[in-house]
Amino acid sequence: MVRVPKRFESVPAAAAAAAQQSNAPAFESSSVHHVTVLRSSLSVAADEPTLHPRHWSDADVQKAVESGSLKFFDLENQLGDFERAVRLRRKVVESRTTRSLDMLPYQHYDYAKVHGQCAENVIGYVPIPVGVAGPLVVDGVEYHIPLATTEGALVASTTRGCKAISMSGGARTEVLNDGISRAPVLRVPSIKVASQIRTFVEQNFDEVANVFNSTSRFARLLDIKTFIAGRLVYLRFRCSTGDAMGMNMVSKGVDKCLEMLSGKFPLEVLGLSGNVCTDKKPSAINWIEGRGKSVCAEAIIKADVVRDVLKTSADALVTLNHAKNLVGSAVAGSIGGNNAHAANLVTAAFLATGQDPAQNVESSNCLTIIEKMDNGDVYFSVNMPCLEVGTVGGGTILPGQAACLEMLGVKGSNAETPGKNAQQLARIIASTVMAGELSLMSAISAGHLIKSHLKLNRKPGAANGVHHANGTATNGAAKAANGANGAHRTNGAH
Ligand code: NAP
Repeated sequence: MVRVPKRFESVPAAAAAAAQQSNAPAFESSSVHHVTVLRSSLSVAADEPTLHPRHWSDADVQKAVESGSLKFFDLENQLGDFERAVRLRRKVVESRTTRSLDMLPYQHYDYAKVHGQCAENVIGYVPIPVGVAGPLVVDGVEYHIPLATTEGALVASTTRGCKAISMSGGARTEVLNDGISRAPVLRVPSIKVASQIRTFVEQNFDEVANVFNSTSRFARLLDIKTFIAGRLVYLRFRCSTGDAMGMNMVSKGVDKCLEMLSGKFPLEVLGLSGNVCTDKKPSAINWIEGRGKSVCAEAIIKADVVRDVLKTSADALVTLNHAKNLVGSAVAGSIGGNNAHAANLVTAAFLATGQDPAQNVESSNCLTIIEKMDNGDVYFSVNMPCLEVGTVGGGTILPGQAACLEMLGVKGSNAETPGKNAQQLARIIASTVMAGELSLMSAISAGHLIKSHLKLNRKPGAANGVHHANGTATNGAAKAANGANGAHRTNGAH
């Protein structure tokens, strides 16, 4: 007979019955934490059987979460059933907010991949439409690029850019540099010690690199740049990280090196990140020094393609690029914003392929260059010094995102040359950015931007949530879809 701890009377009434029916072992392997909590808070004797929460009713689990005896964040571990944990957490949230979560999906998702890697306190997932742009020829190979976006016209416009590039012989790319960075901030007694640390890491780089490299099979320390401000020292470690974007890897390696330096110098680690890294914030250092992949893409767009597909001219493109992306961005004091909308393509590609979306801040840094060539063709290039991408780790393991990586042929670890898949992804994204730049710059220079945005971005009635009984909304959607096709066929969106 299961004895009911007093504080849980409402729970074990159902639980006791369930236990008797199930003959469940009183303590299962994953129950250690839970039982420890119950025993310590309820003074249950060591040999007293306690029913595992996975056998409790939904209502009892909810009550236990509300009372605090089951942790809101720990339902997956306690229930041993990911989807049930998500479902019951939703019920708790619905009860706390008195708002329904019915429209937020949660079923048919592989939460085992989310748990412990991608998110905590999970209550479902937000579906984002994935469109496909292309085909786009990059270094002689044709790609169809998945883009997750809610901006109507983006995919259609990018497809037009892909068409113009591919008809002109395709994009060519170069990865100029590859290294993720982490810069801890240390406080030392004086500028003299600060200077000694700088000298030490410069003169003993191999020793520091050995310590760093011991933390991973793939992370390899490339260099350390020291910045000193008063008695604060910033050591910007930069390393290659194979096919991973590498933030966790570089942080792990840096932590180990700081352990070593702490044994040699009087220093206090104020933060493993001192913002000179710089992660997820605008900064000139990434723009100048590079971070992640420093990648360029270029194409020569034939004069007839500029005229017939892009509906503009070389002169109009060059004039607009100068006035907008060069002078306009200078007037605005922009860092890394010398482009029309690189962030649109970076973000849509990041969401589709499981990159860290917050890194679009620096990853979208881009300098777009347009020149008219002697024969009337257009030289077009995008220069992206800090594109932070990976094909292993983080969100790349989630099924939908992995499918998009697979579609590009860069999923997971490159068996022959670790790092090659991530670099290839960077090349594809830079080329896609170039397609987006080409199409949008063409549309603006030809005065087409607002027309196509209104056509593809504003379904009649949708903004007000108006649903017409006579089917106007449906008709509107159909018209927008036709518009997309038409735009694609003729002068494209934007
Ligand atoms: P990770 O998943 O933490 O680490 C990559 C793992 O994959 C390592 O265990 C590595 O092995 C292994 N691996 C297997 N094959 C590999 C290959 N071919 N190339 C590289 N590694 C391979 O990934 P991460 O890129 O370092 O970190 C990404 C995560 O960090 C994302 O979730 C992101 O959101 C998050 N993030 C963290 C910070 C932070 O400050 N820590 C900041 C921003 C973002 P080894 O164990 O041998 O290295």
